[in-house]
Amino acid sequence: NQQILLNSRPIGEPKESDFALVETPIPEPGEGEVLNRTIYLSLDPYMRGRMSDRASYAAAVELGSVMVGGTVSQVMKSNHPQFSAGDFVLGYDGWQAYGISRGETLRKLDPKEAPLSYALGVTGMPGMTAYFALLDVGQPQAGETVVVSAASGAVGAVAGQIALIKGLRVVGVAGSDAKCDYVVKELGFDACINRKTQDLSSALKATCPKGIDVYFDNTAGSILEAVLQQINQGARIPLVGLISQYNAENLPPGPNLMPLLIKRALIKGFLVSDYQHRHSEFVKDVSSWLQEGKLKYKEDVVQKLENAPHAFMGLLQGKNFGKLIVQVSSD
Ligand code: NDP
Repeated sequence: NQQILLNSRPIGEPKESDFALVETPIPEPGEGEVLNRTIYLSLDPYMRGRMSDRASYAAAVELGSVMVGGTVSQVMKSNHPQFSAGDFVLGYDGWQAYGISRGETLRKLDPKEAPLSYALGVTGMPGMTAYFALLDVGQPQAGETVVVSAASGAVGAVAGQIALIKGLRVVGVAGSDAKCDYVVKELGFDACINRKTQDLSSALKATCPKGIDVYFDNTAGSILEAVLQQINQGARIPLVGLISQYNAENLPPGPNLMPLLIKRALIKGFLVSDYQHRHSEFVKDVSSWLQEGKLKYKEDVVQKLENAPHAFMGLLQGKNFGKLIVQVSSD
């Protein structure tokens, strides 16, 4: 059995020596197990994370273990009631020619329905990522503008095309002219920006004249930075991937957004003026909490208007302690 093991944890970009190719005997399936022959192995960006022992949403691959990965296989031998030799299955056997599975994560595939390999892409995990991140988080509305990074890739190409189906203006960002041509001419995107040769900000301005309503973010980094300058009121940003930093040893300055993705946390702009219509609700609750002593309130009262500038400058240096107010005259 040919297997590729994780040999060392990469520093920066993975290199050949981080992997080890080994030959081992083809295993025999035990009770309740099946032996699969791998037909297709999916290679996906998340695997970079599994090679590293940095905290993540999934455990790292142990050194000396087979690299993990989605696979399309044919069952060779089965001791499992639901699978028979000859079945085609989607599984998670990893980077190896033969894998043993207990069947829990196996799903039968019908080769007449679609090419078998699609189960690793458009009708599999990447396609599902595109579908839900766009429709559920992105909430695309016809007539809006969406920008998709890594636009020609497994996730981005599907996300952009679903946005087209939903009637949006779709602008891709990709890493070569050939990819951009494909995205526009074959997939029908309205425009595509080459992130390596074009200035992102001016290209976004030119291709998104009405601003950006949805940014389907596969990359974070400089594309996110440029997009943020041009987002519209109420824009939505499904943070799907941060591939621009997967190889980074030292993260770029500024906040690292990875925990947002892992924890499915939400960052949303807030303006109190949007809540005027709920003012009475607020007053009712807060007044009664104050009366019941459930809510404490501290004021920092500065005397005389002439002291306002000094007090205000102090506020910006943290000198106030509590709500800063100026007593301009006696009450
Ligand atoms: P792709 O097929 O899009 O391949 C990765 C692409 O990322 C590359 O082709 C390249 O495209 C782009 N890229 C690589 N390095 C950089 C960089 N430094 N800056 C900007 N772009 C870069 O991969 P997938 O479609 O499988 O995955 C896309 C993203 O979605 C990844 O970030 C992945 O981690 C994420 N993902 C997240 C899931 C989730 O559940 N949150 C599930 C599945 C995927 P180009 O050169 O054209 O820009």
